[in-house]
Amino acid sequence: MILFKKKSDIRACLNAMKQEGRKIGFVPTMGALHPGHLSLIERSREDTSITVCSIFVNPTQFNDPSDFEKYPVTIEKDILFLEAAGCDILFLPAVEEIYPAGEKPEKEHYDFGYLETIFEGKYRPGHFQGVCQVMHRLLDIVKPGNLYLGQKDYQQCMVITRLIEITGLLPLNTIICPTFREPDGLAMSSRNMRLNQEERGKAPAIYKALNYIKDNLHKGNLQAIKQTASANLSANGFRVDYIETADAATLQPVDEWDGKQKLVALAAAFLNEVRLIDNLLI
Ligand code: AMP
Repeated sequence: MILFKKKSDIRACLNAMKQEGRKIGFVPTMGALHPGHLSLIERSREDTSITVCSIFVNPTQFNDPSDFEKYPVTIEKDILFLEAAGCDILFLPAVEEIYPAGEKPEKEHYDFGYLETIFEGKYRPGHFQGVCQVMHRLLDIVKPGNLYLGQKDYQQCMVITRLIEITGLLPLNTIICPTFREPDGLAMSSRNMRLNQEERGKAPAIYKALNYIKDNLHKGNLQAIKQTASANLSANGFRVDYIETADAATLQPVDEWDGKQKLVALAAAFLNEVRLIDNLLI
């Protein structure tokens, strides 16, 4: 695996590879890698001839400074993990490489309209602007043929798809990979490392609450099942931001289900200081 820290160096290397006709797959991450990330790397290795992974804990997407400070960093382990996974290139930029000193941070603003006013957009103001600020820059540096994202961050996938449309970063295929879970159902996440033993024991309740919605779904009004799912989470010690059913294509919340519309159930909740999110396509 080749490790690059400078965007000029990785650009030069990838340009040469593209000229040889190699197809580039890109897996952007914030590190603290786990088997969920690995599933994206593996998919890229199946589809493309060069897999690039980036590790960059992006300060502009954290609306809560203490969440940023406590974000797990396990870089030595991550490098070994990526080598074992057969990743070809790791891009590991410093903050100044992505956000050069003196550059005005308000340079980009993306209009995501409704998408940014609900769920993660509502509870983490500015989060998606930060995600897209870094994603735009990373895509511009790597210019991949394929981009690999996890369904674990359902709304983020929609926002990044929109970013690619707005900015004309096409042609680019976006591949959304299924959520990789622990045997007890908990969606793998770097933030799970921050759970203590007791919290870890409770954490699968979020997946169970989503499954409760899925298993009890019926035509008509869905308020009661959402309320029960939320109450189940609270009973397990969660502080619920939201647990909702929404149209899978638009993310408009759905209270009255016609029995046909494709739905996604989404949840975000805190276990003490750690905020977990998950979703289930229904
Ligand atoms: P992160 O490092 O959390 O920013 O995640 C980097 C990429 O990995 C994003 O596209 C995530 O959606 C994806 N990802 C994170 N956790 C999982 C998981 N459990 N299963 C599949 N993809 C995941």
